[in-house]
Order: sequence, then C-alpha cells, then structure tokens
Amino acid sequence: MSISEFLIEWYQKNKRPLPWRETRDPYKIWLSEVILQQTRVAQGTDYYNRFLIAFPDIQSLATADEQEVLKLWQGLGYYSRARNMHHTAKEIVEKYRCAFPETADGLKTLKGIGDYTAAAIASICFDEPVAVLDGNVARVISRLYAIDTPVDSNEGKKNITDLANSLLDTNYPGTFNQAVMELGALVCTPKSPACNTCPVAFACQALKRNQIECFPVKTPKKSPTYRHLNYLVISFMKEKEEFVLMRKRTGNDIWKNMYDFPCIETENASDTSEALNQCVKSGLLGKFPFVVSHVSDEYIHQLSHRRLLAKFIRIKVKGVLTPIDDVTAVRKDQIAELPLPRLIDRYLASML
Ligand code: SF4
Repeated sequence: MSISEFLIEWYQKNKRPLPWRETRDPYKIWLSEVILQQTRVAQGTDYYNRFLIAFPDIQSLATADEQEVLKLWQGLGYYSRARNMHHTAKEIVEKYRCAFPETADGLKTLKGIGDYTAAAIASICFDEPVAVLDGNVARVISRLYAIDTPVDSNEGKKNITDLANSLLDTNYPGTFNQAVMELGALVCTPKSPACNTCPVAFACQALKRNQIECFPVKTPKKSPTYRHLNYLVISFMKEKEEFVLMRKRTGNDIWKNMYDFPCIETENASDTSEALNQCVKSGLLGKFPFVVSHVSDEYIHQLSHRRLLAKFIRIKVKGVLTPIDDVTAVRKDQIAELPLPRLIDRYLASML
C-alpha cells in the first residue's frame, strides 16, 4: 500500500464526525473553511451551524445586510474574512448565477479565497487533484520528509506543496487532503505527536532520525508591535434613558465597519489627562460639564501581528450630546446588538 492509501484508510476509520464532512456543497465547504481559519473546531462548529441557519444558501448570504453578517461573525476575529465572504457571495450570485467556479484557479479569482481555500473546495467538491497546504499539512509533510527549509518561507511552502501533490491520491483528492489535515490535527500534533498510532510512521524521516521536535522548521518570529488605545466611553441621559457614544470604524484599519468607542491613540503608554484634553478639544463633549467616573486597567488584546493595549475612560456628560463625524449615540441596552470587536465585547461584559 502507498502512503496515501494508508492515510485514507486511517482517515475513514478515525475521522471526527463534523457537519461539513456530510456534504460536498461548495457553499457549505467554503463557509466551513473560512470559519475554521484561525479558529478551533469546537468554536467553529457553533458558528458554522449558526451561519447555516441564518444563511442556508449563497443567495441568502448575498442578500444579507453586512451588519447582520458581521454581527453573526462577532467573536471570531479577523473580520475581513466575513466582509470578503459577503462580497464574494454577491459576486457568485450576480456573476456566476449562484454556481461556484469548479477549479482552484477559478476560485482564486474571488475575493478572500486564497490557495488553501481554493484547493480545499476544488478537491473536496469537484475532485480536482490539487493538494491543500495549511499548518497541519505543513507539519505532517515537513516531518515525513524532514524538510529543513522554513515552512513559512516561499521556498518551504513550494517544497511542501510539491511533495503533497506528489503524494496525492488523484482518484480521491478531497479525501486525501482531509486525511492529511486530520492526521495533523489528531496524531501529528505540534507537541508530543502520537507516533505510535501514526499510519505513516514507517515512512517518517523525522521519526527515523529521532528529531521530531526539530520539525517543522520556522522563521524566527519578529516581536509584536504595540498600539496604545485610550477609549472614551462617553455617556449621557436623554428622556431617562442612558446613551453611549459609539464609533463606526470606516477607515482601512482593523475592524472595518464594526463599532467601538471614540478613541485617542497615543504613541506611548496611555496618559489619561492627555487623552481627556484631546477629547475636550475634539468637541465630542459639547460644552457640557462632565465627570470621569472610572478609568479601567489596561486590557491586552492580541491581533495577528500587533498587540493592542487599551484603557477605557468612562465619562458621564451632564447634557444631551449631538454626535459628530462617524460617532453615533446608542441606547445603552442596544449596544450589544451592534457588531463589536472582541476587545469591546470584553470591556462591555465588565461594564454593563
Ligand atoms: Fe508525525 Fe510521528 Fe507520524 Fe512522523 S510518525 S508523521 S512525526 S505522527
């Protein structure tokens, strides 16, 4: 038996019963692949099920309001994935009459669909013999062949993709791809892989050399950059209801089209009095008197390459404010209905 036959046989016996494995519908496979990028399977499964209830097919996603899509995505992070998915759903409905392109090259012309997702959809749904490359595949292949080129370098990626393609079972490309990914998730794990239950241990170079912990080789990480955010949580009373100023993020920055609070970003660690000075100058508080009722401890929020250090300054204004620019006044009990970044959600959980 070949390596791919051992892998497929193992997969058929050991795969986890996940909902997207019951289908070859490209819409559902696409949805699962996008959700599962950077997300654990248990969490991703909940989102996948909720998305399919709200948007059972590509038409319903295409005609949805973007705010509704972002709200449903809330908590998953990497919100550009949701925006791209919404954009692509519209394109598939309008330009392709609801039918996905059937090749990886065709799929890659769509926004948000890169090499990995294109290969996954093309192989699983349309039997195109093209190997996927994700973190699990990179780990398995780099150990199997003891590849010493960093797996995150262009050369390393090409090397691993070529090897995965050479192993691929062209009769069952989708099953082969899922088998390698599943082996990486369940057996050939980053730490303490279960080599004694591995179906391809007989061919593993890293195991043979007793050097499993040396693979995959990675480029040394750069230290993260920091952003210092001073959030202004400005509230006021109007007709016995409390309102809070919320800002819709419109620029080409993180969390586009989601809501947070007005913010003063500073180069160095936050300085509450400086932030308040700038807040007063900005006109956000009108000409009304105000009190600072609370300044939070620093919240740390990790993005892929940046670390956000945020402080929340609660300001109560004695007067009815008129919001300016991209700021809007939202009744306090309605804030949770807006699409919110996880950082804001965390703060609100402690505040409300
Ligand atoms: Fe991974 Fe161990 Fe299998 Fe090699 S033998 S592929 S290191 S699980």
